Amino acid sequence: MQTIMEKIKARDPEQKEFHQAVAEVVETVRPALDAHPEYRHQKVLERLVEPERIIMFRVPWMDDRGEPQVNRGFRIEMNSAIGPYKGGLRFHPSVNLSILKFLAFEQTFKNALTSLPLGGGKGGADFDPKGKTDNEVMRFCQSFMTELYRHIGPDTDVPAGDIGVGAREIGFLFGMYKRLRNEFTGVLTGKSLNWGGSLIRPEATGYGCVHFAAEMLAVGGDALAGKTCLVSGSGNVAQYTVEKLIDRGARVVTLSDSSGHICDEAGIDAQKLAFVMRLKNVQRGRIQEYADAYPGTVFTPVDPTRSSNPLWEHAADCAFPCATENEINGEDARHLVAGGVRLVVEGANMPTTPEGIDHFLDAGVLYAPGKAANAGGVAVSGLEMAQNSMRLHWPREEVEGRLQMIMKNIHKNCLAAAERYGSPGNYLVGANVAGFIKVVDAMLDQGLV
Ligand code: NDP
Repeated sequence: MQTIMEKIKARDPEQKEFHQAVAEVVETVRPALDAHPEYRHQKVLERLVEPERIIMFRVPWMDDRGEPQVNRGFRIEMNSAIGPYKGGLRFHPSVNLSILKFLAFEQTFKNALTSLPLGGGKGGADFDPKGKTDNEVMRFCQSFMTELYRHIGPDTDVPAGDIGVGAREIGFLFGMYKRLRNEFTGVLTGKSLNWGGSLIRPEATGYGCVHFAAEMLAVGGDALAGKTCLVSGSGNVAQYTVEKLIDRGARVVTLSDSSGHICDEAGIDAQKLAFVMRLKNVQRGRIQEYADAYPGTVFTPVDPTRSSNPLWEHAADCAFPCATENEINGEDARHLVAGGVRLVVEGANMPTTPEGIDHFLDAGVLYAPGKAANAGGVAVSGLEMAQNSMRLHWPREEVEGRLQMIMKNIHKNCLAAAERYGSPGNYLVGANVAGFIKVVDAMLDQGLV
């Protein structure tokens, strides 16, 4: 396994995030490899870490001043052993091959955990929608799809949203796909309700995360009601995590964006959350404006000279990182534990560094990795695909009921896999091993392809 890591690093030395995601899986699936010698003989790990296909392309578009701009677009088709490639598109200036390969790798295991027939993929562009007009975003999306449409399809590869890609972007992307292909199919998920979207898809990742947290606490006879929670981010995942936490009687005191975080000790209630949703989804404003609207709230700007994030220094019972990768490092993890946090549930993908994870596990914190806890989003995307294929639209209760059941099953399967492979109660081992076995068994059934 050391050789696998050495080979990956030698081949793509600059892909740090990808190395991090692979190392975590490689270290935790060792007992499954020992129990199944055929996995080693068939070189499943070596095959898993190599994407089936990578598409990289130029995205030229015209800004509002009439000046041509050029971005780089990507789609990583990682693994199709159990279904068509499935995973979001991210538009953010930091997007590169390393970040998308780590996301596509994680997505492969996450999708397997949902028990739906979904392979793993991820894509995006180094385009920053922040500060762009709707027309600029539309022109960018149209140009992006003008290349991407050749590679995707409802039975081939079905992208969705991620950071920087919400309902507006999915609409522009879908419109262009439909025009180019002259077909109305479920080629993207996260569509609006009146043209093929599923109820509960916008809520799914955040809601699913909170369902997962509730399951974890229930094992010890505990519940979320009355718990103080720290949430980071203020986008799709953060918003609906907060909504469900409020529903369950928890007190959420923080939110953030890339400029800083707010702390509202009075608690973010439904009315304040509606303000955040308007601010972020319609006005596209900054989280600092929350502090202007609700006196008593403290806004702390990001300080680039600091090595830790002050958001994680507030006293609390639970933490839900819902912004981005590596937002909790070892120092942040120490602050969280010192501040009383006993439950960490990842809404974002890989938000905790390996040092942070080790600290949580050593301190006995209940820790859920993103690939299990945030799988509700892709699960409801899978349900959106099912509804699109059947030309049906399920009611809210049906989708929400299925989401809850899927999260319950993921929780149960993680615990069972952790127990079976010698790490009882360890959700990291459970999620990695359960996802890994499902994917590699399918790969072995299908031969060396
Ligand atoms: P959004 O774009 O809706 O929101 C992202 C939030 O995180 C914003 O508040 C943004 O602030 C903040 N953020 C992004 N990058 C950084 C950064 N480098 N530093 C500090 N803050 C940052 O994205 P989502 O809510 O959809 O995604 C959040 C996380 O959840 C990601 O890790 C994503 O991969 C993961 N995820 C999303 C799913 C989904 O269904 N949407 C499904 C599963 C996982 P700002 O606006 O200032 O950039």
